[in-house]
Amino acid sequence: MTFSVQGLPVARGIAIGRAVLVASSRADVAHYFIEPANVDAEIERVRAGRNAVVDEIHRLQQSVSQMGPKDAPHELTALLDVHLMLLQDEMLVSGVKHWITNRLYNAEWALTTQLEVIARQFDEMEDEYLRERKADLEQVVERILRYMKGVALPITPPTTPHRKTQQDLLLDDTVDVPLVLIAHDLSPADMLQFKQSVFAGFVTDVGGKTSHTAIVARSLDIPAVVGARSASQLVRQDDWVIIDGDAGVMIVDPSAIILAEYGFKQRQGQLERERLTRLRHTPAITMDGQKVELLANIEMPEDAAGAIKAGAVGVGLFRSEFLFMGRTGKLPDEEEQYQAYRRAVEGMRGLPVTIRTVDIGADKPLDKSQKDGTSLNPALGLRAIRWSLNDPAMFLTQLRAILRAAAHGQVNLLIPMLAHASEIRQTLSLIDFARAELDNRGVPYGPVKLGAMIEIPAAALMLKLFLKHFDFLSIGTNDLIQYTLAIDRADEAVAHLYDPLHPAVLRLVADTIAECNAQGKGVSVCGEMAGDASHTRLLLGLGLRSFSMHPAQILAVKQEVLRSDTSRLQPWAQRVIESDDPASVLSA
Ligand code: PEP
Ligand code: MG
Repeated sequence: MTFSVQGLPVARGIAIGRAVLVASSRADVAHYFIEPANVDAEIERVRAGRNAVVDEIHRLQQSVSQMGPKDAPHELTALLDVHLMLLQDEMLVSGVKHWITNRLYNAEWALTTQLEVIARQFDEMEDEYLRERKADLEQVVERILRYMKGVALPITPPTTPHRKTQQDLLLDDTVDVPLVLIAHDLSPADMLQFKQSVFAGFVTDVGGKTSHTAIVARSLDIPAVVGARSASQLVRQDDWVIIDGDAGVMIVDPSAIILAEYGFKQRQGQLERERLTRLRHTPAITMDGQKVELLANIEMPEDAAGAIKAGAVGVGLFRSEFLFMGRTGKLPDEEEQYQAYRRAVEGMRGLPVTIRTVDIGADKPLDKSQKDGTSLNPALGLRAIRWSLNDPAMFLTQLRAILRAAAHGQVNLLIPMLAHASEIRQTLSLIDFARAELDNRGVPYGPVKLGAMIEIPAAALMLKLFLKHFDFLSIGTNDLIQYTLAIDRADEAVAHLYDPLHPAVLRLVADTIAECNAQGKGVSVCGEMAGDASHTRLLLGLGLRSFSMHPAQILAVKQEVLRSDTSRLQPWAQRVIESDDPASVLSA
């Protein structure tokens, strides 16, 4: 039966495919398609993993049998029996075979997919004892996965399923159909590893529109919905679903009529994108001759290629923290960072690259384990520059790496989340110190322009101080909104109150742009607001001439720029920000 689930729109477009439910804790297993010729070998990998775990349990049983009843409680013996039984379970074995043979999933993916299928059945059981066996099953699968990691075959590059036409979808039900990923939650780092993955769309239960998971999903440029609350509970493995990334809706088990309607919308969207690509080489100049800089936000050095392809004239925000995440605490050393920044700089072929120092914390934990940390309020805790200043050796390592990369092209150094004069002082002296260290070592480095992010209202209220020390400012609207309105950007429960057009937010944005313009200093917006074409005219009217966004958003924003006349937008923008209800003036 068809039903829909409402969430928050994150990335535009329509995706139609079969649901792949991924447990949040296992989102980090590899997801790729295998060659048909490797089916038997892949099944063998799972079998070998399972046999190894069975042997391990047999060995444990043996040692348990040699213990006295005091050391070997009855529960332990019973538990081992249950684990053995689950390992032999026909549903697990045949299900895994099915996903490998019929869908060509790699072994780990097949195993976790089948785990989700069986776990769901456990959830629905009435008997509490049986329901609780789900945890045992998860443990057993975890052990097989761990074993397989040690003996895993080299991962072949993922192949993207070819997008089928609507007609194909209705007729065909075999391996080659698009897949959409449904998960309760995904960390930004997990989301990033899906960058070149097999999935045609994403839905998560939790997350706000500007949570970092949503931001990475947007950078993948495939339809995505977050904050869909119980989506992962309502959808079953392999259900047909439609993801409407424009409306933030997921439709499950669509009827033929609904499928046809969305198939039409999907084609319309594709045509619109193709039409926009014609603007790629057109300079972003308004009707009244104002030059506008459209820059890219990137997460990894390799994203530079996409930025160039989209026609970006530089990188306005390289979120360097993605180099630090998911490494179980072992942070990248100076050489590794230098090479990464250098790749980004060289990838941009002489165009400027703004590298932001690490912004770890809040919804961007270093690792999964850090997520359960003790901070009660991580968005207000040890995050971004606070984290860096707390560990000067780590910060100096990053600063040296960035300064060295600046020898290979134009680099701007951007500092996130500053609020205090003391933080500015410490940061600047550490930058000087990093230069001195490189001088002492005789290592070459290049000049950088220094920028600060305006993300905390306190910063937006002391612009003169910031402009005394920095060459340019970059407005991080995602956080500026979060901290001005006291709305957790990652919490879908308050997502309706997260408002870029709140008069207080607009006042801070407008004042920052005006002050920088008055002092002849550079200013850009690099939060999600910059990539939302419905805000382009307002920001132009407020005097902004530099926007940084996901490469996928550049052409839509450019289209708005080309249609704008800033001399007319200026008085209108003042009316918008002076209104009690800017949204209504904007839409009028
Ligand atoms: C912002 O806060 O607007 C920003 C660009 O930084 P991030 O989204 O990484 O917090
Ligand atoms: Mg921020």
